[in-house]
Amino acid sequence: IPKEFHEALPILQKIEAAGYEAYFVGGSVRDTILKRPIHDVDIATSAYPSEVKSLFKRTVDTGIEHGTVMILDHGTGYEVTTFRTESGYQDYRRPDKVTFVRSLKEDLKRRDFTINALALAEDGQITDLFGGLADIRKKIIRAVGDPNERFNEDALRMMRAVRFASQLDFRIEDATMAGIKKHSALLEKIAVERSHTEFVKMMLGVDAENGLNIMLETNLYQHVPVLKDYLPQLQEIVASKFHLTNEAQVWSLLAFKFGFSAKQISSFLKKWKTANKIINDVILTTELLFSIAKHDVSNADLYHAGAANVDNAVIVTADQAKTAGLQERYNNLPIKNKKQLRITGGDLIKRGVLKPSPQLGKVLDYLEHSVVAGKILNQPENLVNAAINFLNED
Ligand code: ATP
Ligand code: MG
Repeated sequence: IPKEFHEALPILQKIEAAGYEAYFVGGSVRDTILKRPIHDVDIATSAYPSEVKSLFKRTVDTGIEHGTVMILDHGTGYEVTTFRTESGYQDYRRPDKVTFVRSLKEDLKRRDFTINALALAEDGQITDLFGGLADIRKKIIRAVGDPNERFNEDALRMMRAVRFASQLDFRIEDATMAGIKKHSALLEKIAVERSHTEFVKMMLGVDAENGLNIMLETNLYQHVPVLKDYLPQLQEIVASKFHLTNEAQVWSLLAFKFGFSAKQISSFLKKWKTANKIINDVILTTELLFSIAKHDVSNADLYHAGAANVDNAVIVTADQAKTAGLQERYNNLPIKNKKQLRITGGDLIKRGVLKPSPQLGKVLDYLEHSVVAGKILNQPENLVNAAINFLNED
């Protein structure tokens, strides 16, 4: 039993001592059985939210309308959710009504896949009503109950199935797969942010090529932003080997294969509601990927991309022969940013090289580029002389 559960045991015990049931549920139970590291420990209980709150000193109402109360315990937060059923799914998204119930069985029934519908009790007993343990053993993602009904209730579950297949290296069971094929178009009803999260997790999974392939096979790719126009490129990605480690790499791989300019990347990723910081990194990484593909990477390209995006481009390229020495070349650049120039605009003015004017920015840009290209040494005297020559030529 992992230490995360061990540390949370007093919480289960306290709820049980008050006469309620409490279990560990969800991903942490699944991942423990798979011997994977667990992140958050979720607890399900027969106690109602007000009852949970009355038992603990420090709680936060993180999702009280859905029955979730966070218990703060020595710096760790535990989400404790009352057993519930869901009803009134409208627009194929989250239910608009949850009903609290006292039965574990009812709560497990509303969960998405058998592998996610296991409950672990304080004494180590596992409640497995839908064959989740056997499916873990067989490495199968299977909807709880009728897949058609379940995907109709909440279309995001289709993307979750693909995400788990990739993360866990599991197969999607036939009826569940057929349900996804049949209902793929319902994904358009889901907020892009939610598909985004699952798509990125899928692309970062150990078996992402397979996850992406399932999106093609089931037509899910036609119901997320932009991908439907790039089937041949997506097939090429499926056939390649890639092992990505962050979100910027995911989008850069796609943007590179799609042949996107900075402007196209921006429009592509805005449709996916991607954070601006990530969009910026993707543009820089993709530009570098094009230079790498042309075997024409200048120091200016590396400087412009920055350390993190040089690393991103190396990982996305996934070909040591093409990227050999790039990181070392980056590390050996004379400067990594403008602030490292050993002269400032103020210095140039003080030394009488020029007066405050719009020219100043141009001179500093010239010095920056010349130092990066190795044409001028980053020493105050060299920089001043170079500035004077530049102004004379101009
Ligand atoms: P992760 O390791 O990524 O956190 P997880 O299985 O814990 O995976 P969560 O999104 O944290 O996934 O959800 C916790 C649990 O809640 C799931 O294991 C599942 O039982 C249930 N669940 C989450 N989302 C859905 C959904 N859309 N439909 C049905 N059940 C869901
Ligand atoms: Mg979780």
